[in-house]
Amino acid sequence: MSSWDADPDLGDVVVDRETLRVRVQELGAELAEVYRDRPPLLVGVLKGAFIFLSDLARAIELPIEFDVMAVASYGSGTTSSGVVRIVKDLDADLTGRHVLVVEDIVDSGLTLSYLRRNLLARRPASLDICALLVKDGRQQATVDLRYVGFHIPPEFVVGYGLDVAERYRNLPDIRAYRGSVPVD
Ligand code: 5GP
Repeated sequence: MSSWDADPDLGDVVVDRETLRVRVQELGAELAEVYRDRPPLLVGVLKGAFIFLSDLARAIELPIEFDVMAVASYGSGTTSSGVVRIVKDLDADLTGRHVLVVEDIVDSGLTLSYLRRNLLARRPASLDICALLVKDGRQQATVDLRYVGFHIPPEFVVGYGLDVAERYRNLPDIRAYRGSVPVD
């Protein structure tokens, strides 16, 4: 029993912390093998991916580099419109780099399909995407997701970096959110 369990807005655990830990280690080992001869530049998409990024990076036993960008998608609190604004751009020049985008969750896929196009225009040597969570049956845009942590049911989730109005990012498990989602 933790203090999170007293929160009436939190529903079922969708992916528990131990399952997350094991899968992140597996992904790290797989990526270390794939990128053995071409150490990648990890591009984290803030803020949601920051915990996944830090755990994944430590699971990849290679001399990797990082950069981060922040995007805001216009839309209501729970759905994205596909119109994406870059709030913080990368510092790194992607030309000739092996870029691995680290994303928290793919819902419609519109955010990632925009990001992929935007980043490809910067002429990286390769560009792949690693998403921790993919919501089943929701994708409107085809995104080539090379690495996926978990497929989950199409419900709104929080924890392990994912928020509602900046809350719950430090929740160690991924859980369904049952409260009302503020419209932004
Ligand atoms: P998409 O463009 O794929 O519809 O939405 C992607 C973005 O919407 C994610 O990067 C994330 O910021 C947000 N998002 C989508 N689904 C969820 C969810 O279940 N929980 C939270 N906290 N954010 C979500």
